[in-house]
Amino acid sequence: MSYVNLKEVLRNTKNQKFAVGAFNFNGYEDVQGIVNAASHLNAPIIVAASMSVVRYFGLKQIVGLVRGIAEAVDIPVCLHLDHSTSVDLCKEAIVAGFGSVMIDASAKSYEDNIHDTVEVVQFARKYGASVEAEIGHVGGVEDNIVVSKEDALLTNPSDAQKFYEATKVDALAVAIGTAHGFYKKEPKIDFERLQTIRNLVPCHLVLHGGTGVPDKDFKRCVDCGMSKINVGTELKKVYTDTIRNQCAVVSRQEIDPKKLTKQVKTNIEDAVMKKIITFGSDDKI
Ligand SMILES: [Zn+2]
Repeated sequence: MSYVNLKEVLRNTKNQKFAVGAFNFNGYEDVQGIVNAASHLNAPIIVAASMSVVRYFGLKQIVGLVRGIAEAVDIPVCLHLDHSTSVDLCKEAIVAGFGSVMIDASAKSYEDNIHDTVEVVQFARKYGASVEAEIGHVGGVEDNIVVSKEDALLTNPSDAQKFYEATKVDALAVAIGTAHGFYKKEPKIDFERLQTIRNLVPCHLVLHGGTGVPDKDFKRCVDCGMSKINVGTELKKVYTDTIRNQCAVVSRQEIDPKKLTKQVKTNIEDAVMKKIITFGSDDKI
C-alpha cells in the first residue's frame, strides 16, 4: 500500500478531522527520519521535494529514493513536488513517478493560474497523480510586505470557489496569514476566512508556512478543516544544526561520514513526530 498519491494520503482527513504533514527534505537522512517518524506513529505522510531539491537530485533519483524507503514501511507515503512554477516540470515529475505535484501559478493573473492548473490537472489524471494549486499569495518573510497590503494578498473565498469549479484540483493552498520561512512576529491567522473557504470549496485545503505557527493555531486550522500542512524551514534548521553540532563533537580522526550524518535521522524523526501528534495524524492509517 505504501506509495500513494495525495488524494489517497489525505482520504480520511476531512471526516476524521486531522491533517497530514508535508515535510520538505534535502537529503537521504531527513527523508528516512520523516518516514521513520510516521511509521512509528502509524501516520500517513507526505514527503515534499522543492524545485531546488529537484535540481540537486534529479527527478528519477528522488522517485527511486522515496519509493524505496516507502516500500520498506506499512504506512501510506506520498511523494509530492512542492511549489513548481513550471507546468513542464510538473509533467516531468508525474512521468518520473511522483504521486502528486503542486503547480504554483499564484504569482500570475487569476486567468493564467486557472489555465496552468487545468493543464496540469488534465495531464495528471492520465497517470493517477494528484494536483495542488495555490490561490492568493503565501508570502515569505523576505518579501517585506507592508502590513496594510497583507490583507489584499489573502485568498478571496469566492475566487477560491470559482477557481475550484474551473480546475477541479485535488488540493488548494490558501493564504490565510501564514508565511514561508521564520517569523519575525507571531503570525495572525484569519480563521474566519478559512472557515468561509472551507464551506465553499470541496477539495482538500493546504496550509503553507507551517514553521513557527503555535500548536494551538495548527489545531484550530485542523478543526476548521485544513487537510495538509507544509513544514519546510524548521526541518532545514534541524538538519544543518545537527551537522554543525556533530562536526564539533565527533573526533577529527573519524573518517566514517555516517558518524556525522546519522544523528540527522534521529533529530528529524523527533521533530516530525511532534508535528504528527499536533496535526492529529497519528494512528490514522
Ligand atoms: Zn509553500
